[in-house]
Amino acid sequence: MKLELSHSELCSAVDGKLLQESSGNIDVVIYDTRKITTSRDGVFFAFIGHRDGHLFVQKAYDKGVRCFVVSKGIILPEDASVILVEDTIYSFQELAKHHRNRFTIPIVAITGSLGKTTIKEWLYYLLKVEFKVGRTPKSYNSQLGVAQSLLELNDQHEIALIEADISHPGEMDRLEEIISPTLGIFTGIGTYYEQNFESKEAHLGEHLKLFKHANFTFILDEYHSQFRRSKIGMMETSVSEWKNFGIEQQNFPENRALCLKAAEFFGIDHVVLKDRIAHLPVLTGRQEVFEGINGNLIINDTYNMDVDALEQALEYQFSSKERTKKIVVLDLSHVDELRKGDILDVVQRYGPEQTFLVEGNELPRELMEMTEASILFKSSFHSNLKVLVQKFKNRKHETWVEFDLKAIRSNLRHLQSLLPKGTKTLVMVKASSYGTGDVKIPHFLQEHGADYLGVAYTDEGATLREKGIELPILVMNSEPNAFEDLLLHQLEPSIHSMSQLKAFVEVVEQSGQSNYPIHLEVETGMHRLGFEESSIQEVLDYLQTTNAVQVMSVFSHLADADNSDSTYSKKQLESFAIMKKQIESNLPYTVMFHILNSEGALKFAKEAAYDMVRLGIGIFGYTSNNDQLLPSIRWKTSVSQLKQLEPGDTIGYGRTYTAQKAMTIATIRVGYADGFKRSLSNGVGKVIIKGTPCPVVGNVCMDMTMIDVSNITCNLYDEVEIIGEHQTLQDFAKLLNTIPYEVMTSINKRVARVYVRS
Ligand SMILES: *Cc1c(COP(=O)(O)O)cnc(C)c1O
Repeated sequence: MKLELSHSELCSAVDGKLLQESSGNIDVVIYDTRKITTSRDGVFFAFIGHRDGHLFVQKAYDKGVRCFVVSKGIILPEDASVILVEDTIYSFQELAKHHRNRFTIPIVAITGSLGKTTIKEWLYYLLKVEFKVGRTPKSYNSQLGVAQSLLELNDQHEIALIEADISHPGEMDRLEEIISPTLGIFTGIGTYYEQNFESKEAHLGEHLKLFKHANFTFILDEYHSQFRRSKIGMMETSVSEWKNFGIEQQNFPENRALCLKAAEFFGIDHVVLKDRIAHLPVLTGRQEVFEGINGNLIINDTYNMDVDALEQALEYQFSSKERTKKIVVLDLSHVDELRKGDILDVVQRYGPEQTFLVEGNELPRELMEMTEASILFKSSFHSNLKVLVQKFKNRKHETWVEFDLKAIRSNLRHLQSLLPKGTKTLVMVKASSYGTGDVKIPHFLQEHGADYLGVAYTDEGATLREKGIELPILVMNSEPNAFEDLLLHQLEPSIHSMSQLKAFVEVVEQSGQSNYPIHLEVETGMHRLGFEESSIQEVLDYLQTTNAVQVMSVFSHLADADNSDSTYSKKQLESFAIMKKQIESNLPYTVMFHILNSEGALKFAKEAAYDMVRLGIGIFGYTSNNDQLLPSIRWKTSVSQLKQLEPGDTIGYGRTYTAQKAMTIATIRVGYADGFKRSLSNGVGKVIIKGTPCPVVGNVCMDMTMIDVSNITCNLYDEVEIIGEHQTLQDFAKLLNTIPYEVMTSINKRVARVYVRS
């Protein structure tokens, strides 16, 4: 967002009093000093919330901010402008209003007590190919959030989707004034919420105020008469209108109908819509998903309890085909009385087989005995449910691998912190993100500030797109027969030969597109893929002849970055620098350059990060030099049987181990089909129980392994560590004579994946 206001223009936009003035312009708004990155042209608003923003004025000044909007007197040096207002939030809204009024694009306001975020995200998805759409981030739909959303609008946007939420009478007038929507979407209201208002009519009426100046509002036909009475222009739809689109069989058909109606209004073709509506992204909040006891799939979303987050969790639960029986467990004890009805309403819409309302420290017996169900646990963070849900952990019965998302985030941040400012981050998520699962990590990276993703093959990229990944995606190996899919999913190919380049240009030309983003890989010493230095001029000359493609970046790959002797890497960096010069002087536009992988980023971030780095193993914490990175993977299993052996007894297939003395062995639930390789047989491999190493005895079987537990007291169901605190992934890789990459990508799909955010 660029506000482009001088300090005095800002002062009049917010109707304030200029207590002291220095010259300057403002482009961005700041209200959290922790988030100040570019401070030069920022204005700091001191909000009085649960913390008084005035206490942070000095900190903002120290970080370079020179313009302040305050509601109390403050003391600052002369080179800062200070604008006094009565209420900083109100003034912030005034600024948002001022900003909004610069735009003549359609501003679509979305309100109702249900489904706002879902509708906004879905409609965005239906429109985003044809239009540049601005939208409310997350569900910033409160008085403050609406203003924030509007301030995000910029000149590029062609349509804006703004959510507005109210919980009390009288709030909507102000929101209407700030947003002044040109179109509306009314999502409907629940039956319980009226407690907050005099009547259902009053509740509805409050919502309708948002639309009083809109050209018209998209509604479901059941609200026809209320809209009629209020004289608000409407465009009706219903689930049955979209029968041919199959939405009746899909989740939340009413939301889909509204989205379709609005997208149709914006001119999106029915054929296109029919396809898109069937492939809407699944929206998820903060949660942990795991295979639980009794064959249940557990969705642990016990972090917050706002209605939109609940709806997204339900959407996630109901769109998963994994279990047909859907159960919802709610703890409403920390929820505002007035919100409870809304919550129950949303749940009812999805229609789970059973809903349990729980409180305190006990779970109903009936719930504990549930089998083969998908069970969603939802509560606010303060509820005890987040502890109780642990009872469903399958610790006793399964083999599972845990990914610590907090460690991954910390690794990502650490690696990024080594890079010169402005360097972008591409994360390689090939081979199901190094074996961590299809889309969880890509989604996580998308949320946490990766700029690009990279995959090995086109179909991997297509899967990411189908699961709602919107970041640009670089495809390392793309073959001519995949080019159409590449275009279809907006994936960006790496080009490494002249014939591949020409074939791709031809496909792009046929599709009628131009300036399609591509990336050139150049050879500097890996000897795998890439243009030789001697052929670069030919490529550059050829590129002059077509506008079908545009080079986004040029990259190469280090072959020996983990070697403590950097001689070879340095040679590669040198030859990359030479090619970079040649390319830069021959292309009429600027392109990005990148060569560093994780190891490279740890070593050469200062001199060779260029515009971007490509991280992989580093975000999981498994580089050779890893003091600063945190391990993120734990692989666990459990004991399924214990046996006493007499001297002379043999163990397992091929009888390769004979007991020399009386001993106790345990059978654990992991075998070579899980990635616990057969080469670990007979003492090569070990696992840890209660902190003590237990060697493998006999041959590893397909699904099971026997270990020697003679030296410990071991019980059925004891937890067994394969990789974790005592045996790191690197240790385990050494036993197998391989590297962490191969261990990670060899843990079989049947091993349950658990993603832990703490
Ligand atoms: C896999 C890959 C990376 C990431 O490498 P790490 O060693 O995991 O950091 C970077 N670039 C290319 C081309 C890759 O194939």
